[in-house]
Amino acid sequence: MDTSAAGTETRIAHGALPARDKLRLGIPRVLNVWSTHQFWIGLFGALGLDARRIVFSSDTSDEQMREFGKGRGTVDSCYPVKCVSAHYGELLALDRHRRIDVLFSTMIYSVPSFLHGHVVDSLACPRVMAAPENIKAGFLKEGDAFAARGVRYVAPLVALGEPDMAARQLLAALAEFLPGVTRREVEAAVRAGYAALEAFAAAARRQSREILENCARLERPCLLVLARPYHMDPGIGHEIEVDLQAYGFPVLWGQYLPTDPDLLGWMFGAEVAAGQVRSGLDIADVWPSSYSANTNEILWAAKFAARMPWIAGVIRLSSYECGMDQPTYTPVQQIVERSGTLFFSFQDLDSTKPAGAVRIRVETIAHYLARDAAGIIARKRDASPPDCPLAAAPLP
Ligand code: SF4
Repeated sequence: MDTSAAGTETRIAHGALPARDKLRLGIPRVLNVWSTHQFWIGLFGALGLDARRIVFSSDTSDEQMREFGKGRGTVDSCYPVKCVSAHYGELLALDRHRRIDVLFSTMIYSVPSFLHGHVVDSLACPRVMAAPENIKAGFLKEGDAFAARGVRYVAPLVALGEPDMAARQLLAALAEFLPGVTRREVEAAVRAGYAALEAFAAAARRQSREILENCARLERPCLLVLARPYHMDPGIGHEIEVDLQAYGFPVLWGQYLPTDPDLLGWMFGAEVAAGQVRSGLDIADVWPSSYSANTNEILWAAKFAARMPWIAGVIRLSSYECGMDQPTYTPVQQIVERSGTLFFSFQDLDSTKPAGAVRIRVETIAHYLARDAAGIIARKRDASPPDCPLAAAPLP
């Protein structure tokens, strides 16, 4: 696929646009926006847009789909992509006080990943890449819904995993609604976007490390969620991990695990020394076809869980009709279970949260954790190298 062409999309409505500091920009809160939102805030802030005028759509919900997504469906797809139409509809329907001038919905080709350089590639799922094209069709089939509301629709293809390429692609797209924007401005704004994203991820990793240090100090179990970034959306992941947290188990997300060299050295040092992997972030031993960023991160986090004594249980979330997750079900489960860690899977999640069934499963997970966690931690600690850097951490 040629990503060098900027691929900027549609010039559907061409009215005069307000000045930058008055421009109202709508961004659907969907798919890989869940892992890149800080980039967009940093980018547009550096370009002089007022943060209060950058409008993200709401979390996904049944009400949102009923009110804004009906009749806009296009080709059959997985559940997270299906939901995108309701986010578009919500942004287009904003009242005159919040009405947007531009709907900005990127076709994300690749995503920044902490595994970059240790895996084959960091591509987005093809359905994520194509979603704006797919969803746009539903807003054009009975007339141009963007033009009817005076909204300019901009959907560039962006290789966010390659900063130089991303800057070139974004320059062409941004020029569509920021007249006079220069290459130098966009390059600086792209740098600001990546800096914001990295600062957010670093803070989240620090928090995850503090949780693990606390668990190590108190010999307490925690849980790890293995899922895609958009399972943090309450309407996609149904907050299953929140229900578990209510039982007193701290919850970590695979995307934001600590990657400090001392910790990776303790967990993976022996395998690196033996030549089984090239680094603590290498997954070639379990997943040689490491092209997809989110899939790679799930596999790596499964390895992390297997080696981390205080992660006593893993929760796997996956959405209805997800073709990307299917080949990973067995390897992920095997990696986790072979270490003696409890594994629980919620597959085919869609719009309905079967509250009763989820509650029973959550109660079951809490029961097994309360019963078995101490033994799991002890066995995993016995199998680990000595001198864990987490246990040596000073009290906060
Ligand atoms: S990873 Fe799965 S759920 Fe996510 S967009 Fe791709 S096919 Fe859909």
